[in-house]
Amino acid sequence: MIPPFTYQALPMRVVFGVGVLAELPAEVDRLGLRRVLVICSPGHEDTGRRVADALGDRAAGVLPEARTHVPIEVARRARGRAAVLAADGCVAVGGGSAIGLGKAIALESDLPVVAVPTTYAGSEMTPVWGLTEGGVKRTGRDARVLPRSVLYDPELTVGLPPALSAASGMNAVAHAVEGLYAPDATPIVSLMAEEGVRALASALPAVVADGRDLDARGEAQYGAWLCGAVLAATTMSLHHRLCHTLGGALDLPHAQTHAVVLPHVLAHNAPSAPQAVAALTRALGGTPDPARALWELAGRLGAPRSLRELGMAEEDVPRMAALAASGAGGDSYRNPRPVTAAGVDLLLRAAWTGGPPP
Ligand code: NAD
Repeated sequence: MIPPFTYQALPMRVVFGVGVLAELPAEVDRLGLRRVLVICSPGHEDTGRRVADALGDRAAGVLPEARTHVPIEVARRARGRAAVLAADGCVAVGGGSAIGLGKAIALESDLPVVAVPTTYAGSEMTPVWGLTEGGVKRTGRDARVLPRSVLYDPELTVGLPPALSAASGMNAVAHAVEGLYAPDATPIVSLMAEEGVRALASALPAVVADGRDLDARGEAQYGAWLCGAVLAATTMSLHHRLCHTLGGALDLPHAQTHAVVLPHVLAHNAPSAPQAVAALTRALGGTPDPARALWELAGRLGAPRSLRELGMAEEDVPRMAALAASGAGGDSYRNPRPVTAAGVDLLLRAAWTGGPPP
């Protein structure tokens, strides 16, 4: 029987395909924008410049200052720059950091954001913003930060190195896994989650083997789009909480931490999430043990599989477990299996070692 549900669709405009960057000027015109600020990460000025060149006189400038987790001072500088340049919108080209900076500007100024993602993180599909101040990251939801248009051009991802492609792809899979057992899962979102996992699991080995394989890059981006839409539509639980805790407290790298932790959280939650397990079994080619299959996939992709190799000290395990478990009573934290510090400690220890999930 289909359980009762409420489904609220988010506005979504996606332009997808090899070469669609050429359609960016038309997308900007469609939104009535005349002076957009192009945002990218440091080291990717060439991409930012390429986007600005494509926009011609619609580009007010390029700001190559995006940083992970959007430090507040970076956001303030970017807001100031947008005001000085009299920008009427932003084009964020890059990963979650560049898109996050575009969102930080939109949050205060209402300037529309157009996103051109170059990783698989999925921020472009969500109305979730994040800002880090004094080492603490605040996040929230606001319709104004949801990009008005998203251009997925596989050509822009060919430079994403194999290791980062693998980790970022597993980060996307994590959104789908948690969406499948989310308290607010709905049939249509679960379909997107299952298909997103299937597409990424099928594409990532080819992406890692040959980063210029545009078919595989396209399928991976298609999967990332679906997984990002799942992230936007559902409430994430233990896995995302744990990665957030590890990233915030120990500064572990975002996508790599997701890649390591996911199989272990799934193994932990699987007994309490039979429908999610059934969907993942279908998505991953019939495996009865999706947690093990994701751990094996990470290994085949050369993604990190242990927190030890990410630089975490073993002594930090109990503290991180207690910290992650302490959020168990929060509204946005309804894990399918009750969360205890002892349970998280066990799974974190397994993730630290990097062996197969039990
Ligand atoms: P990122 O944007 O920091 O990119 C990771 C690295 O990849 C960077 O060094 C970047 O310069 C490089 N890179 C990006 N695209 C590249 C390309 N095509 N070729 C070569 N190098 C490339 O990291 P991310 O994993 O994409 O995003 C992580 C950030 O996004 C975190 O701050 C996370 O919290 C946030 N995020 C937010 C949401 C949301 O809904 N708000 C969703 C997912 C992630």
